[in-house]
Amino acid sequence: MSKLSNTHLPQDVTIKAQRLAEFSDHQQVWEYRHPASGLHALIAVHDTTLGPALGGCRMWAYESTAHALSDALRLSRGMTYKAALAGVALGGGKAVILGDPKTQKTAPLFHAFGAMIEALDGLYITAEDVGTSVRDMDWIAETTAHVTGTSRDGGDPSPMTALGVYEGIRAAVRHRLGSTELSGVTVAVQGLGHVGRALCERLATDGTDLIVADVNPDAVKFAVDELGATAERADRIHAVPADVFAPCALGAVLDDETVPALRSAIVAGSANNQLAQDRHDEELHRRGILYAPDYVINAGGLISVAHAVVGEDASDSKAWSAVCRIGAVLSEIFDRAEAEGQSPGAIADQLAIERIARHRRGA
Ligand code: NAD
Repeated sequence: MSKLSNTHLPQDVTIKAQRLAEFSDHQQVWEYRHPASGLHALIAVHDTTLGPALGGCRMWAYESTAHALSDALRLSRGMTYKAALAGVALGGGKAVILGDPKTQKTAPLFHAFGAMIEALDGLYITAEDVGTSVRDMDWIAETTAHVTGTSRDGGDPSPMTALGVYEGIRAAVRHRLGSTELSGVTVAVQGLGHVGRALCERLATDGTDLIVADVNPDAVKFAVDELGATAERADRIHAVPADVFAPCALGAVLDDETVPALRSAIVAGSANNQLAQDRHDEELHRRGILYAPDYVINAGGLISVAHAVVGEDASDSKAWSAVCRIGAVLSEIFDRAEAEGQSPGAIADQLAIERIARHRRGA
C-alpha cells in the first residue's frame, strides 16, 4: 500500500467545516490536494460510534470547495443514520473528489485518493457513488485496503436494494392499506434501471398492477412485454392514480411541484435523496401520504456491502434476512410516527440517533 510522506498528509479542515450550516457534530473532515495527479478531495467522517465510516466517493465538478464540503457533510451524516437503522456495525462518512468525472479520471488520481484513505488508517471505507465506477474502486484498491465495490467484491448490490424496497413497500401497504397481499395493489415505478427492474420483477410475481416510466424506451418495453406493466410518460408517472409511487431514478423528485400532484397513498422507492428539501417530508405528512424514508428503504445494498466488508458472502442467507428486516424497521417507524403525530422522516432520524446513543452508553 502506498504511504504518504508527512508533507503530503491530508489536512484536517474540521474547523473550517464547522462554519457551514450542514455541519452537525462531524467527527473529522480532511482536505487533500495532490498537484501531481490533479487530485483535490475531501473526506468527511460523521460518526464512528457503530464502526468504521462507510460511504461512497462522489466525483463532481463542484462550483466551489465550499459546495463540495457542504455536500460531503450532508451526505456523511445521512450515511450514519442509514447504517444505524440498517443494523450494521458501520458509521457514516463520505468522500468527494472535485473534478469532472467525464474528463478528469485517471489511475494516478485514484491512486493518490487511495493513499489519502490509507493515511486515515481504516477510519473511513470508500465505495462507488455518483461519478465513480467499479474500475475506479479497482484503482483505489491498488493503494488502500479500505475500499469496497471493486470487481473482486463480486458485486452489484442492486438486487439486495430491490429486495429491501420490496419489503418496504409491503410494510407500507400493510400499514396504510391494511393489506398483507400485494395482489391488486397498483404501484407506479419511476425508473427501470438496476433497482427498478428487479423491483418490478418481484412485484409482478405477486400480481401487483404495475405502471412504469423510464426515459429509456427499451427498459419500458421489457416491463410492458415481459411483466404486463402499463407504460406512462416519464414526466407524468408521479401523478398517476396509484396506491404506491416508487421513485427509483433520480434524487429530489419530491418538490414543490410534484408533491401537490401526487395521487398515491404511499411513496416508497429506492432513489437517494428523494426530498428536494427536508420540509417536503413534512409536506407529504400534511397531505396524508405515507413516506418511507429513502435512506431506510434503500439500505439493502449497504447491508450486503457491510457483510462483504467483514468478509462474509454479501448474498448469503444472513445478508438476505438482514435486508428483509427493512420491512420491520419501517413498520416500527410508521407505527411510532402515527402514535406521535410526526412524519416518518423525523421518527427515522430520532431512531437512528437513539441507536447510536444506546451504543455509546454500552446498552
Ligand atoms: P440506474 O442508473 O441503473 O437506473 C436509473 C434508471 O432511471 C435508468 O433506467 C434511467 O434511464 C432512468 N431514468 C433517468 N431519468 C429518468 C426520468 N426522468 N424518469 C424516469 N426514469 C429515468 O440506477 P439504479 O442503480 O437502479 O438506482 C436507482 C436509484 O436508486 C438511484 O437514485 C440510486 O442512487 C438509488 N440507489 C441505488 C442503489 C443500488 O444498489 N443500485 C442503492 C441505494 C440507492
